[in-house]
Amino acid sequence: MRKKIVAGNWKMNTSLSEGVALACEIDRLVKKNKINHETGIIIAPPMTHTALINMVIDNDRICIAAQNCACKEEGAFTGELSASILKSAGCKAVIIGHSERRAYYSETDEILKKKVNIVLTNKLRPIFCCGEQLEERKKNNHFEIVKNQIVNAIFDLSKNDFSKLIIAYEPVWAIGTGVTATAEQAQEMHAFIRKIVENKYGKIIANNLTILYGGSVKPTNAKEIFAKPDVDGGLIGGAALKADNFYKIIREA
Ligand code: PEP
Repeated sequence: MRKKIVAGNWKMNTSLSEGVALACEIDRLVKKNKINHETGIIIAPPMTHTALINMVIDNDRICIAAQNCACKEEGAFTGELSASILKSAGCKAVIIGHSERRAYYSETDEILKKKVNIVLTNKLRPIFCCGEQLEERKKNNHFEIVKNQIVNAIFDLSKNDFSKLIIAYEPVWAIGTGVTATAEQAQEMHAFIRKIVENKYGKIIANNLTILYGGSVKPTNAKEIFAKPDVDGGLIGGAALKADNFYKIIREA
């Protein structure tokens, strides 16, 4: 059966010392409270923190992800970080296509497709984000938008590669706004995503696919959202910056 996962996206927050302290505190809470070993835990700190954090946490229990990676393998791309560099710093997964990257850095489906491929070639797990804008939902276009994002960026993958993906459904209107999708809205979209994956890759791959919900998840609403049958955990932004809140959310998965 598919794995439950809770992933924390720290975005551009925390100094190095704050980040290490946060990671150590999450690690301590997880160990002390013996969180169910079946639940995967991922944190995505700023890249400067990764190698150090990797040394101070139990990295069999908590995986480190990068928040982005270059769409090139290596070379003269000043300021970029390749998937192989991320791997060498201890990353096991990479968030690809977060709505902030799509909106502020003009990441198109074509670019995201390249990134997903490079991440997989380097034997890292892509956490592929998709989700509609508020206007698109109001016009009832949300299913079509999400389907297109998925088809354009990840439906050329082989079955073997696709089975390594994690998908995160993150309605853009719910990210960092305090407005969460209702548990029913999340379930409806997750079931839709699983169905299109089933149509393309078959029942086994669809049933094994972990689909995370992201968008203003907090300790107070995680339980209801995670209880839905097609919601397999969450991608958490703001609430992942407080160890106690993040730990409480992990407990609900
Ligand atoms: C995110 O950035 O992926 C996210 C879900 O943020 P927040 O939880 O703050 O809405």
